[in-house]
Amino acid sequence: MSKEVKAYGAKDSKADLEPMSIKRRDILKDDVEIDITYCGVCHSDIHSVHNDWGNAVYPMIPGHEIIGRVVSVGNDVSNFKEGQLVGVGCMVDSCQTCASCKDDLEQFCENGTTMTYGSKDKHMDDHTHGGYTTSIVVNKEFVLRIPENLEEKAVAPLLCAGITTFSPLNNWNVKKGDKVGVIGLGGLGHMGVKFADAMGAHVVMITTSPDKAEDAERLGADEVLISKDEDAMKEHAGSFDFILNTIPVGHKMDPYINLLKRDATMVLVGAVEPLDPFNGGGLIMGRKRIAGSLIGGIKETQEMLDFCGEHNIVSDVEMIDMKDINNAFERVMDSDVKYRFVIDMASLKN
Ligand code: NAP
Ligand code: ZN
Repeated sequence: MSKEVKAYGAKDSKADLEPMSIKRRDILKDDVEIDITYCGVCHSDIHSVHNDWGNAVYPMIPGHEIIGRVVSVGNDVSNFKEGQLVGVGCMVDSCQTCASCKDDLEQFCENGTTMTYGSKDKHMDDHTHGGYTTSIVVNKEFVLRIPENLEEKAVAPLLCAGITTFSPLNNWNVKKGDKVGVIGLGGLGHMGVKFADAMGAHVVMITTSPDKAEDAERLGADEVLISKDEDAMKEHAGSFDFILNTIPVGHKMDPYINLLKRDATMVLVGAVEPLDPFNGGGLIMGRKRIAGSLIGGIKETQEMLDFCGEHNIVSDVEMIDMKDINNAFERVMDSDVKYRFVIDMASLKN
């Protein structure tokens, strides 16, 4: 048994997104059925549709920044109720028994995380489908509580852009007074600036776009560093305690490594692909580190949402109708989004 719902998706890696219909399972005892109100547009949706990472399955319905209201719950669900505002991020299932799952790091499930879209579906003869659709059915362990004081549509990007930037700042213990750089003012970067600022850091926005400088300061940056300005990059050399790098493609690393202090770390979250060769000497001279980070576990995602509730942090969003998604993809690829597109799902329902 299943229910047919409206969606937008891609037939293959070259195709535009177009209207489709998909099936959602009837709820099982541990499931929550959600009527989707808003879904954010992540650069990963674009990488996935274009098969940039070589693991795409079609038809692909992207979307992993999902916000909505609970419609119904299974018999064994007591912590969610009809009408409640909830969110779903990049994951919808994991084994719950391996060492990573036990450490609340379901994104590294040793038996394979079920991602919100493009993973094998455990319950249907299909792959999973994301949030560019009107409804979704998700196991209760992967449903997040949303603080009701936050603006509903502006919360959607927290489910991926939010946790992906909060988690490294949290895990590398960014604290008051640290000099923190955030590279790339897009969906992830603008959340990174807000979180680092809320954690009390001295935040430097490192950008290729001088015209975003004013916005960066409004979002919480104390300084703006234009990465193409070699003199300015020299002035900041050796001065950063931590750098969060959100550049979505392979790039030259040396100029950024040069910004780190002794023993400081740069965490990559953007480039899931080969980086340009870089000089090992840049790391050796100063015992510097480069690391990576993938979204965050469900427990930490809930902590991030509660932190946002306390500090009144949401995303800066540009609202679009579902039919405008292909234009939105183009604009994200041109680094022209302020600072996250969010789809109003009412535009797909009507
Ligand atoms: P986005 O909105 O497109 O922002 C990326 C920003 O990076 C751009 O606005 C631009 O900022 C800068 N940039 C773009 N191309 C660049 C280049 N060639 N060199 C230097 N800077 C460049 O993307 P997003 O949604 O924030 O996602 C960023 C990346 O993170 C994507 O690759 C996405 O797939 C990945 N991601 C990873 C995770 C994870 O768990 N690790 C989760 C979500 C997304 P400026 O104009 O300021 O320079
Ligand atoms: Zn994402």
